[in-house]
Amino acid sequence: MSGKKSKPSPSRDESILNMESITSTSTINATAITFLGTAAATPGPGHDTASFLLNGRYLVDAGWCAVLRMQSFGFDPLALECLFLTHCHHDHYLGLPALIFYRAMNAPSGPPLTIFGPVEDVEKVVRLSLDLLQTSRFPELNAEAAVDIRPLAPGDHFENDDFRIETAASVHPVPALCYRFTDLRTGSVVAFTGDTAPAPHLVDCVRGADLLITEASYGPGPIPAENRWGHQAAPEAAQLAVDGNVTRLALVHCRERSQQATLTVAQKIFPNAFWPHDGETIRLTPVTP
Ligand SMILES: [Zn+2]
Ligand SMILES: [Zn+2]
Repeated sequence: MSGKKSKPSPSRDESILNMESITSTSTINATAITFLGTAAATPGPGHDTASFLLNGRYLVDAGWCAVLRMQSFGFDPLALECLFLTHCHHDHYLGLPALIFYRAMNAPSGPPLTIFGPVEDVEKVVRLSLDLLQTSRFPELNAEAAVDIRPLAPGDHFENDDFRIETAASVHPVPALCYRFTDLRTGSVVAFTGDTAPAPHLVDCVRGADLLITEASYGPGPIPAENRWGHQAAPEAAQLAVDGNVTRLALVHCRERSQQATLTVAQKIFPNAFWPHDGETIRLTPVTP
């Protein structure tokens, strides 16, 4: 773990603070990013794999315990509108069946969760999640109605009432997407690379972001010569932040014991790097001219 103390579960006060803070984003005009988990593939007790909330209503990747983490940190899983899967490795979608189940049980007539993800895999993973819930055996659960699948290809971009969303291909052993969210209220930009090997073309997708969230799976480095798992280490993550001229860099997706060493290496290249703690919320406020 980093020099910061680990915060595996929030106090009641912290949960309430999150609730109040996110609820108040409309008044203070901020974009809020909450780190539900920051761990690599197999988290330890009290942690979760890398998954993130935007304004309490958009989820990027569904870590093992996403639905429980949201509640622990003071968020309502029924308030989620969209899930964006960066890719369909287990640590990024294991929480999906539980999330669908929670919503189908607690809001059977509620709007579906719109699930975006790589065109090659997203439908398959959502279907498998529904199979796990035995939808034909338990039709009364009506889990099919709880999801709306939207496949995306690299380069796809669109706008809804909240964000402009742009995508690029990350470099990973399975199809993977980098997402760039521009908050239409605030103009703030958050970029998520998901898991990726170093890829110079990602600079365009993260350029000028107020917050870049990227992975440093190989810790302080170096990356193995083969890099067959398609990941970065701290120097490559920090260099992406430099090349993209981003404001802040959040490092995620590495072993707990390596986090402080990883951060130290990254900060030598990009001083405004940090390792977020679980449950932490970053608020991006527009710069007033
Ligand atoms: Zn992966
Ligand atoms: Zn991963």
